[in-house]
Amino acid sequence: MKPDQVNITDEATRKIADAIDSHELITFTRELVKINTVWDPDAGTCEKPAVLHIADWAERQGFQVELNTVAPGRLNAIVTWPEEIRKSEFGNRNSEIPIPHSEFPKRVLMFEGHTDVVTPGNINTWNYEPFGAKIVDDRIYGRGTNDTKGNLAAMLVAMAALKKSGINLNGSIIGGVLCDEEGDMTGVQDFIRRGHADTVTGAVICEPQDGMLCFTQKGALRVKLTIQGKMSHGAMPLAGLNTAPAIAHLIDGFHQLECDAIEKFGKDKHLGWPSFTPTVILAPFEGEAQLNVMPGEARLLVDIRTVPGQSHDDIRKDIVLLTKTVTEKIREHYRSHDARLNLKRDTRLNIKTDFITDRPCTFTDINDPIVKAADWATRRITGQVPVYAGVPGATDGTYLWASKNIPIITMGAGDREVPHQADEWVNIDQLIETAHIYALTALHYLSGEPA
Ligand SMILES: [Zn+2]
Repeated sequence: MKPDQVNITDEATRKIADAIDSHELITFTRELVKINTVWDPDAGTCEKPAVLHIADWAERQGFQVELNTVAPGRLNAIVTWPEEIRKSEFGNRNSEIPIPHSEFPKRVLMFEGHTDVVTPGNINTWNYEPFGAKIVDDRIYGRGTNDTKGNLAAMLVAMAALKKSGINLNGSIIGGVLCDEEGDMTGVQDFIRRGHADTVTGAVICEPQDGMLCFTQKGALRVKLTIQGKMSHGAMPLAGLNTAPAIAHLIDGFHQLECDAIEKFGKDKHLGWPSFTPTVILAPFEGEAQLNVMPGEARLLVDIRTVPGQSHDDIRKDIVLLTKTVTEKIREHYRSHDARLNLKRDTRLNIKTDFITDRPCTFTDINDPIVKAADWATRRITGQVPVYAGVPGATDGTYLWASKNIPIITMGAGDREVPHQADEWVNIDQLIETAHIYALTALHYLSGEPA
């Protein structure tokens, strides 16, 4: 049997539909939203209480649960069913030579959802209590309803329904309940480091994509540039070395790199244009800025988002070259300026480059069994042809794809523009529909025989 030629009976889908407990899904979502999981050590809030609540719930369903501490207060819960497929069952896998996923003897589906949420910001801008999880008409309001506690509850309720239905699956499911997605993504990195991802053959990233199937996502490369000149009185700029002209040239240079990328790679159908965006300019980057003080050090942060085809290595080389060129240009500018004024200054302005994030863009073949499964499940539940799209931001899925070559599909309930806004909400009907889609995706994916 080929992976996608699966025979799923109406009885199987009915059994699963009957086993999905909508009431429990709503209750579970609200319970999670009411636990403030903003990572804020000063305020004493973190993911831990929510993760322990989930672990408790999952154990009551009869799932195997492993808790991993990523950092103090920050835990991952690994929820597995039917049984964890050990690496040894994959034979003598040499980790240096990755085996194509299609050759794995068993499929392991991962559902991934994160427990952290971003800050509610100024709570005066909210009409609803940010951690109140209030139901008004057909919506639940609160931080995390959309991104992504509703979807996290949906994936777990879907797993519970599959278990309750009593249907035998050819393979197993790992529910990755991960911390720190909104920050440095240390949760997913820890998950990978501990080997949990080694047996995963396909993953559903449970994030608010409004029911669309996102098979691709932009890459991210973030750069911190530190420009070192010399501080002086604003009235005596010749006693120092101003960093401002270097910043101007750098911004110009990044704009040129963006234009070149647009010219060369064009607009991706699902992801849009590549971008090089200077987002933060700080001069000085520490201490108070004063109009009559010429700062000695400045900082420029640049957020680069890439599309398939762009090489991050090439971009890094271009940036190193840009900083070299700008450094030379500015030093030369100061040398000739000083010659004109008959001055002798130390004109050694420096630019230090740090790459602080490097995540490639991801692209899962739409013929991969995980995409086929999500497509079938979406059609079956909604009666509509699925919309294929790209994820504009980065998710934990980026690491699974980049480090372990795991095919990923990002999907879930929730308007895509609502995350991180005030009055965040999720539509209850769409959330219930999502739990059904997740469950049938798993059914389809784990009914096919691996090639
Ligand atoms: Zn999210």
